[in-house]
Amino acid sequence: MKLFAKPAHELHGLLVQKEITATELVEAHLGRIDTVEPQVQAYMTRTAEAALAEAQRVDAKVAAGEAIGPLEGIPMALKDNLCTDGIKTTCSSKMLHNFVPPYDATVVKKLKEAGAPLLGKLNMDEFAMGSSTENSHFFPTKNPWDLNCVPGGSSGGAAAAVAAGEAVFSLGSDTGGSIRQPAAFCGVVGMKPTYGAVSRYGLVAFASSLDQIGPFTRDVRDCALVMNAIAGHDPLDSTSAPVAYPDYTALLGQSIKGWKIGVPKEYMGEGLEPGVAAVIDKALQVFCDLGAEVQECTLPHTEYALPVYYLIAPAEASSNLARYDGVRYGYRAEGADDIVEMFKKTRAEGFGAEVKRRIMLGTYALSSGYYDAYYLKAQKVRTLIKQDFDQAFERFDLILSPTSPTVAFPFGSRTDNPLAMYLSDVCTLSANLAGIPGLSINGGFAGGMPVGLQLMGKAFDEPRLLQAAYAFEQETGYHRQMPQLGE
Ligand code: GLN
Repeated sequence: MKLFAKPAHELHGLLVQKEITATELVEAHLGRIDTVEPQVQAYMTRTAEAALAEAQRVDAKVAAGEAIGPLEGIPMALKDNLCTDGIKTTCSSKMLHNFVPPYDATVVKKLKEAGAPLLGKLNMDEFAMGSSTENSHFFPTKNPWDLNCVPGGSSGGAAAAVAAGEAVFSLGSDTGGSIRQPAAFCGVVGMKPTYGAVSRYGLVAFASSLDQIGPFTRDVRDCALVMNAIAGHDPLDSTSAPVAYPDYTALLGQSIKGWKIGVPKEYMGEGLEPGVAAVIDKALQVFCDLGAEVQECTLPHTEYALPVYYLIAPAEASSNLARYDGVRYGYRAEGADDIVEMFKKTRAEGFGAEVKRRIMLGTYALSSGYYDAYYLKAQKVRTLIKQDFDQAFERFDLILSPTSPTVAFPFGSRTDNPLAMYLSDVCTLSANLAGIPGLSINGGFAGGMPVGLQLMGKAFDEPRLLQAAYAFEQETGYHRQMPQLGE
């Protein structure tokens, strides 16, 4: 039995039936990591001992006849920008190469309470800036479907680990697409929840008005189960929403007959690879077969999403990253004569090229005389983008699009051209700007590579997004395919 190929809800059944133990489950994943990690390189740090200790605790509980929760004993891994008490959290940056947080992020605390053994921390683009994981200071992660291609980014390690069977689920962060785009490239489920639905306490901040934490999973039911564990109000995060949180599995299996699905014409035009377009067309047919009504819709301000994002995100990043000065924690440059020199040298040596580019862009956009022209203007256009969605959701239950205009691309093909790299996210940025939830599932394959299907919904409408995604998944079964690795 390939335990590393199964979703959490099936593994939970096996644990409860005592067909497997949690220790065997963790060991199966540690073995799988040993086999495929030389190729995939998803992990920054491994925590095998702690995972085994947690598995033993779960086994003792099962042996004593106690009930276990849905994620108890299910091995997970975390993007390396989520603070873990006593475990290195590098953000894949030289700046934080030695940073060991003294506390857990709220999501980490919640998953620990849920009893999920932690296998380790996962590679990413430095400070979550990028779309390919090539910006990691340490090494690039490979796409498990084609080792010559990128896994997407910035949560490339988190997507690749789940796709390659190196963790049952993982958490990533999404500021402009960093969960959905790598999920698409690696053929797994990835969700960016509504802004405020998941606490960001303990997430290393990139752009605070856009960042959200969310799950990578093998199927939609697992996504709902992980959301059940991590969503909820948190007084430690002032942007956390004090609302009632649903059971995210509640609507799975219910029909979507009669639903109205909008397909924004702005997402289906220029730059869309023919293979991706063909998969989307086929997927639309599946939704029609499921009884939904599919219609073209318009989100007229879509063309401004990219420029607006690349003003707002760098502006917020320039402010958030001001704290890395070599004084309190992280990297400190040697050999400076005075403190100002030390700041300068530390930041020049500690940050990579893309991070510096963003800090410069953002500082410029926020500087006196330019603030109104750039930052304020971008915020106003952001409102127009949000209003596009408000209007669309008056007519449609959900909006469907490709997650990315292309499948995973080869290493090095976009590194010299930041604009080409930024275009990987044209389909995902708007959901962050509008604060709405977005989910990427495996919509099929083009040339042997997975194609992501993105579903976007109204704020806090995750249960219905999951309902529609589940219906598609049950109908097509693409999620059951795994890349051939280590065989
Ligand atoms: N790729 C986008 C960027 O580089 C999005 C990153 C993210 O969502 N963290 O900013």
